[in-house]
Amino acid sequence: MSASDQVVTRFAPSPTGHLHIGGARTALFCWAYARKRGGRFMIRIEDTDQARSSDESARGILDDLAWLGIEWDDGPSHAVTASDVAAGGGGRVIGASCRDVGSAWGPELAGGAGYFQARRLKIYNAYIEHLVRAGRAYPAFETAAELDALRKAATAAKQTFKYPRPADVVPGVFNETRWERALAGAEPHVIRFVVDGEDVVVRDEVLGEVKFAAGEVDDFVIRKADGFPTYHFAVVIDDELMGVTHVLRAQEHLNNTPRHVALQRALTRLAQDGRAGTPFRTPVYAHMPLIFNPDGAKMSKRDKAKSARKAAKEAIAKDPSLTPATLAGRAGLDAGLVAGFLASENDSLEVAAGLARLLGVSLPEIDVWDFRKSGYLPEAITNFIALLGWSPGMKESDGRDVEKFDTAFLAQHFDLSRIGRTNARFDRVKLLSFNADLLQSLSDERFLAAWSAWLAAFEPAVHARLASVGRAELLLLAAAIKQRCKVLRDSLGHIAMFLCADADLAYDRKAIEKFLLKAGEDGQRGVDHLRAVREVIAGLGAIDSGIGGELERAAAGRGVAMGAIAQPLRVAVSGGGVSPPIDLTLRILGKASTLARIDRCLGQC
Ligand code: GLU
Repeated sequence: MSASDQVVTRFAPSPTGHLHIGGARTALFCWAYARKRGGRFMIRIEDTDQARSSDESARGILDDLAWLGIEWDDGPSHAVTASDVAAGGGGRVIGASCRDVGSAWGPELAGGAGYFQARRLKIYNAYIEHLVRAGRAYPAFETAAELDALRKAATAAKQTFKYPRPADVVPGVFNETRWERALAGAEPHVIRFVVDGEDVVVRDEVLGEVKFAAGEVDDFVIRKADGFPTYHFAVVIDDELMGVTHVLRAQEHLNNTPRHVALQRALTRLAQDGRAGTPFRTPVYAHMPLIFNPDGAKMSKRDKAKSARKAAKEAIAKDPSLTPATLAGRAGLDAGLVAGFLASENDSLEVAAGLARLLGVSLPEIDVWDFRKSGYLPEAITNFIALLGWSPGMKESDGRDVEKFDTAFLAQHFDLSRIGRTNARFDRVKLLSFNADLLQSLSDERFLAAWSAWLAAFEPAVHARLASVGRAELLLLAAAIKQRCKVLRDSLGHIAMFLCADADLAYDRKAIEKFLLKAGEDGQRGVDHLRAVREVIAGLGAIDSGIGGELERAAAGRGVAMGAIAQPLRVAVSGGGVSPPIDLTLRILGKASTLARIDRCLGQC
């Protein structure tokens, strides 16, 4: 395959927050399509919104993609950010996916800088000047207040606002006066594109032909007053210069596409007139279905705010002494912000998280980071999101649809023709069951590795506490809790008894009554068995793998079944009637803790 036939896809996140699960799907599909077609997959950081972009967010997005196992051929290296690049740091040089665009643009592309749009202003500005000189773009000087008045007038007249092209702007004629005025630098201005009066037909691999009538698009802004290009402009320039052949993105970008096609046409004319560059190609477009919650609302970052607001309102309804101000005080939040949040005037994520913590509710996971924190495995996530709008269209031998697969399968079978048109449904129950199935299918070793990595990242204190537990015990523990975890976070409930100090263990009174104080069928009480077992344990050098046998012998010696002594012991060391197997529990606790807990329990009997 020659380089010019090579498929090039790109994922182009704006680094303004965490990687949304919908963004992860876009990245996955772009990756899978490139793999399937033997092409290249690129990451480009669209950081032209200076106020909202951050290095931290860019780094987080790259890290989430790497965690998901979505590897890119071209783009910044994992840890590189725009600032690192500015400081002369690493980043892979744009590779085979970048068409040679000639010496005019070439130097800017050297180094990792090429993948950060904010580092490419010279390139955009050069094209903008060419467009202005060709009469295809012009500086516009209206103030925000003037534009607002025009917008209001349109609303009052029940019309959609469209920027009225100034009378002195003639398509195809260079407006030197405006350009000089802009260059003088004294007045804030934007650059607008002269939209010609042609219909635009977007050919979309998923949606078919989508026609946008002439006049639907006004002279939109291509460079903002801060000197940065708009998304529309930068995306068109970069998709061309970086040789992108296929644009797969969410359906909310469909309405942007006629603007992009109009720009491609104008830039192509520039090339044909010999003014600049080479003709721009229109990539293949594939707009993917939107992702909806099962309740029918579009899945969005606001879902967290919605759910925290609901929980807070319920708490206030239950306890009328609670007010927004008391909630704010207890959660350590700003009272005004909380009042505004409850009145739906803001969707502050900080307030949502603070209230959720206070009220003990968990917020719906939306970003990849949220799912990581909850303890989902990357393989479960990629499997699940691959099915959001795509399906392999294959059957298992029992006739059911093939739904469980890994990314290698996806890379082998992914195709644009099987992307659906209807909205995808984000079924959390299904995702949870995918994750639970995957956890349970892991060997004890692999579960332990995944669990340990998760603890180290999200529960470092627990991870440190388990460092003193031997590997053999940890493997047994892994085997015991693996079956009971749907997500890795569930593990915390199952090991809580190991994490609290002996002196802090709380006892369930009912369990003490039932398993220690009430006489069993044989007339003996659990507390008496416990006293006897205490002596056996006190006589051991240490609790090791022989403890099961010791307990069996103790039970036999007292003429009872193992369960008769195991259950009182379990209550003594765990506080309640449920724990991993008793011998394992004692091995993990060790002799000193076991005895201390038995003594505390006996003190309560
Ligand atoms: N930066 C845009 C976004 O994050 C990219 C859209 C596109 O793929 O063209 O939505």
